[in-house]
Amino acid sequence: IFISFEGPDGAGKTTALKKLMPLLQKRTDKEVILSREPGGSPISEKIRKIILEKENEEMDARTEALLYAAARRQHLIDVILPTLKQDKVMLSDRFVDSSIAYQGGGREIGTKEVAEINNFAIEGHFPDLTVYFDITPDIGLSRIKKDHEGQMDRLEKAAFSFHERVYDSYQEIVKDNPDRIKTVNANQSPEQVVKDVLDIIVKRFPK
Ligand code: C5P
Ligand code: MG
Repeated sequence: IFISFEGPDGAGKTTALKKLMPLLQKRTDKEVILSREPGGSPISEKIRKIILEKENEEMDARTEALLYAAARRQHLIDVILPTLKQDKVMLSDRFVDSSIAYQGGGREIGTKEVAEINNFAIEGHFPDLTVYFDITPDIGLSRIKKDHEGQMDRLEKAAFSFHERVYDSYQEIVKDNPDRIKTVNANQSPEQVVKDVLDIIVKRFPK
């Protein structure tokens, strides 16, 4: 079982996933593995650093998209596919939809173009289920500013209009993939968000 988690910056995915892990593990005999993108394997984490460093402010949008796709490819080969082969539950904090929303929409390369290079990278290995954390950019950004303004990464620091485009693109992706993607209202207490996510997963994979 392969499940990805998506959403704009400040949606609370990472926090929710930490809390979700033990709850999910209690409900299944399969081992549950949590990973993240960009990153998730040694080579992919190196690529993550290149992408997110403040020094790389001038990085071209298509260069960035190719690096994300490259990091994803290596994560797939090193972690995701081996985990699925062992019949474990693979959770990924972000996957291909992030690239469509951020590079395709946010950086305005175009969703079709970004989908193409990602199809090359993932060769049809889409998640069985994607949980989308829905939060508007004003609320999401106010959260990350409150939590870690001093250490916001290169992309979190982007203009508000960038984050609005990311949000709009996510709405489109969700609308176009009703079978794969389920939405959680991320503007609730952390406890409620975790509960809703768990409900979605259990409903989709009842034992
Ligand atoms: O999810 P996380 O906060 O770790 O993502 C790291 C950064 O990379 C964020 O600023 C996110 O907006 C950005 N990102 C991106 N394009 C992607 C994936 C993540 O711009 N495809
Ligand atoms: Mg972030």
